Amino acid sequence: MKKLNIHNLKAKEIKKLHTWLRALIQILYFLFLPSVYTAAFAGVKYIFTQIGAGEVIGLTSFVTVLIVLCAYTILFGRFFCGFACAFGSLGDGIHAFYIWCFKKKKKKPVLLSEKITEKLSYLKYLVLTVIAVLCFAGIYGKAKGTSPWDVFSMLHAGNFHLQGYLPGVILLLLIIVGGMCLEERFFCRNLCPMGAVFSLLPVLPFFALHRDRENCIKGCSGCTKKCPSGIGLPEDGSLKVEGDCFQCQKCIDTCPKKHIHTGIKGLKGNEFWFTILRAILLLVIMIWAGV
Ligand code: SF4
Ligand code: SF4
Ligand code: SF4
Repeated sequence: MKKLNIHNLKAKEIKKLHTWLRALIQILYFLFLPSVYTAAFAGVKYIFTQIGAGEVIGLTSFVTVLIVLCAYTILFGRFFCGFACAFGSLGDGIHAFYIWCFKKKKKKPVLLSEKITEKLSYLKYLVLTVIAVLCFAGIYGKAKGTSPWDVFSMLHAGNFHLQGYLPGVILLLLIIVGGMCLEERFFCRNLCPMGAVFSLLPVLPFFALHRDRENCIKGCSGCTKKCPSGIGLPEDGSLKVEGDCFQCQKCIDTCPKKHIHTGIKGLKGNEFWFTILRAILLLVIMIWAGV
């Protein structure tokens, strides 16, 4: 059997390989490990509830998942968001289907403008603050049935007993039709409270993405335009890390000059293997954490 040597492939072939690999990892996590994000956010809610009640914070299974996922994100960036979160993958699938439908009809898709989405992106901090305050005050239970996440998790698990979840169902539909269709990663970028937690984490710069800005094509902003978060990546050597970067790696394949890479330059061109390594590592620690 012929050995796969990524370095011998053309840029187009590498891009195709990365796209298929990402789709495969997303599908596998979506099917077999869909509850990581709900478990981790249950940990966040539990911590605020315990603080509000003046109770001890125990190392529950949810808190363990939260700690492990945050530690992984501090080291590798938001790889979980880009590749393994079921709700993020749902958004990717819906947006891709919406774009495909317009392509079929040979029409331009209706999309939210970058100006609007830039402003909306602060909403996730408000959502996180409101949930944290409700938990702290011990009244989050009264908001039961309003979470689109919970509704999605129930549907994913084949549980259609949605009595009492009408607000959550309506919100989920609104997010799908009015958000996920019109903007790639709409929920992640603008509304996700877990995404707000991740974006506030102090991510280490080793595996974060930077670009060789000095040698960029004059006037080029291809990577920023392709980025679902609209990020203009920091320069090489910078210690700045973009908390809103989902590590989807689309920018890497977009750049015609191959200027985008992690802080560890030895990984340049080996993103394929590094992605597999991170996906396996995440799987192992999630199984260990009992998800
Ligand atoms: S931002 Fe939230 S919904 Fe999006 S991928 Fe991350 S955890 Fe999942
Ligand atoms: S396109 Fe690049 S900068 Fe934008 S979210 Fe994906 S990995 Fe991060
Ligand atoms: S796509 Fe490449 S050349 Fe263009 S701005 Fe981004 S890093 Fe620079």
